[in-house]
Amino acid sequence: MAICFTIFALALDFEVSSADASVVDSPEFVSIGLKFSGAAAELSNVKSEDDICIAAFDDYGEEFIFNIAENDIAASRDTYYHIQLEEEFDDASDVLQIIDDMDIEGAYPYFDGKDWYLNIGRFGDEDSANEELDDLEDDGLEYDADVVMADGTDILITYREDAVLGYDSSKDIVIKSLSNLPIWIDGKRYRGGAVFRRMSDGKITVINRVRLEEYLYGVVPNEAYTTWPIESLKAQAVAARNYTVISMGKHKSEGFDLCGTTHCQMYGGYGTERSSTNRAVEETRGKFMTYDGKVVSAFFHSNSGGRTEDSENVWSAELPYIRGVEDEYSVGEPKSSWNAQFTSEQVRSKLSAAGVDIGDIEDMKIGSLSENGRVTELEVIGSYGEKTLQKDAIRKTFGYNVLMSTYFSMSSKPTEAAQKNMSVLSANNKTSLDMSSLKMVSSDRRVSSVKSGEGISVISAYSSQKITPEPQKMEQFTFEGKGWGHGLGMSQWGARKMAELGYGYEDILKHYYTGVEIEE
Ligand SMILES: [Zn+2]
Repeated sequence: MAICFTIFALALDFEVSSADASVVDSPEFVSIGLKFSGAAAELSNVKSEDDICIAAFDDYGEEFIFNIAENDIAASRDTYYHIQLEEEFDDASDVLQIIDDMDIEGAYPYFDGKDWYLNIGRFGDEDSANEELDDLEDDGLEYDADVVMADGTDILITYREDAVLGYDSSKDIVIKSLSNLPIWIDGKRYRGGAVFRRMSDGKITVINRVRLEEYLYGVVPNEAYTTWPIESLKAQAVAARNYTVISMGKHKSEGFDLCGTTHCQMYGGYGTERSSTNRAVEETRGKFMTYDGKVVSAFFHSNSGGRTEDSENVWSAELPYIRGVEDEYSVGEPKSSWNAQFTSEQVRSKLSAAGVDIGDIEDMKIGSLSENGRVTELEVIGSYGEKTLQKDAIRKTFGYNVLMSTYFSMSSKPTEAAQKNMSVLSANNKTSLDMSSLKMVSSDRRVSSVKSGEGISVISAYSSQKITPEPQKMEQFTFEGKGWGHGLGMSQWGARKMAELGYGYEDILKHYYTGVEIEE
């Protein structure tokens, strides 16, 4: 099932990246958005089988900072006033030592990304924080302290309601298991760690920071059937690795690299991993498909229907490695054919939803086909206008789930009313005839049909009158299609068939992606 959804997402949203990533730029870690923008969290929960710690990170690694020493914590926005000792500390252990010595309730360490501080309490307003500070000073507080307000990027980590750590989430800090075990983030298990960012809306963007190859463990089983032959899974793993690197900047403004949904790649984390797909990732570790030394956009789809397509015939970019190829491996496999029907009324409402109003739909015609046989132009004729749908917009308008591909032929059925009638008067009654079925017999006995728009002349005793049938209006359109998806790059069902026939993953990739190399 996951396969279908992925393909629609790719077709919907993918923009061809102009930034060519070179193989050597492959990232060690990726940041995957789990909860963001409208779905950003008020609170996020992290659990681990061992202690939870924090580490500073960069593109290449992680450096341990502090052991929170609990295994079930919650992260929330820090919107409070706190009492804060003026002294800065180099080390969290110094702060913890003072907390132990002071024995003050509600004290916890705060990290600004560089120095450590000692915070006390959470106060909804400044006055109550000041009152508490006065009381502490009256009770003999040995340190100079101020009341501070949390920054808009501060996060508070609590264990059973008690604050155990505060930190500035605009710094690169990851929350993870002390011994690198997979952790639960809001009930789902992931490798790597959790990164919390407070973006402009103030809520918490929840991110899973994970090594690229471990991320792919959680992607490939969601993009392919895990029971498929290993070589087809390996081809899928390389395609997913390519896709990841090409898409790295996609969510930069939201604070992470890729999202975990079909918008980027469906990522299910540790809980969705399977041994077959982990093996496929392992056996292709670090391998990318390149063209001219650059990592390529490895588009794939469910079934080509027998021939793949050139990239510019679906979207606009002309990619030298996404060329239409004969694909006998997909023929007869699942998803290789489909059909769909629309009434003229349904066509009108589909167009209307796309912001196009050309009145009642009277006809639809295939305007042009690509060399590979896919429809690149579909002309729609309305009662007061015409609209030509092009390339991917054809499926977008009718629905990616209904028009499974642009590899189709179409037939139409005229309306009852459009079957033009004429009346023939007899001596005593009137009979209606369907003009389209009317035949004329000329004086030399040749039989011909009445052509639409031409009409016939009827000569009576007194006058001659021309009868012209109106152009036919169509009320139903039937699409007969081949394949499923946009038809660019690898056909998944074709890849499966190739693997079954004994081809290796490199053969599969080189069949579907023109002129590519497999490089590390
Ligand atoms: Zn995304």
